[in-house]
Amino acid sequence: MLHQLGSEVGTKSCVLLKFFSVVKAKADEETAAKAAARTTDKSSPTIFDKIVKKEIPATIVYEDEKVLAFRDINPQAPVHVVLIPKDRDGLTQLSKSDPRHKDILGHLLYSVKVIADQEGLTDGYRVVINDGPNGCQSVYHLHLHILGGRQLKWPPG
Ligand code: 5GP
Repeated sequence: MLHQLGSEVGTKSCVLLKFFSVVKAKADEETAAKAAARTTDKSSPTIFDKIVKKEIPATIVYEDEKVLAFRDINPQAPVHVVLIPKDRDGLTQLSKSDPRHKDILGHLLYSVKVIADQEGLTDGYRVVINDGPNGCQSVYHLHLHILGGRQLKWPPG
């Protein structure tokens, strides 16, 4: 009886710990996004420029002359790939796009399909573009998140 009570308390503590760690992670993401949004010069190089130049390591999963895809350092799903244009060309975020970006935007979206095939995401996946502080964007170099490998929930937070 006492043993059963102990194991129930243990299970509930685990659920509570998981809940609070999810709440903390979400708060951290929002804080990072707000800090990034406060940066006055969004045109300054980001960490993604260093990844493109291979100045810092990343697990690259796909590359062609225009785009680069690598595994997210803080994955939110078994498959979490970040896809970027190699040349940012003013595309700090999707809302800064203009007609000259139509080609690269199409190229990025088609590359998602190629990468998803390569990653074996046959049961579906999600593509996310966070834009600005309300969208929780933390890196001001346009990027698409490709998330898959588990059942994703809807609606997002
Ligand atoms: P955002 O929040 O701007 O939509 O997404 C930025 C993403 O880039 C985050 O998911 C974050 O984990 C990822 N990220 C940030 N810095 C690095 C890095 O140095 N390497 C890799 N692989 N991913 C990064």
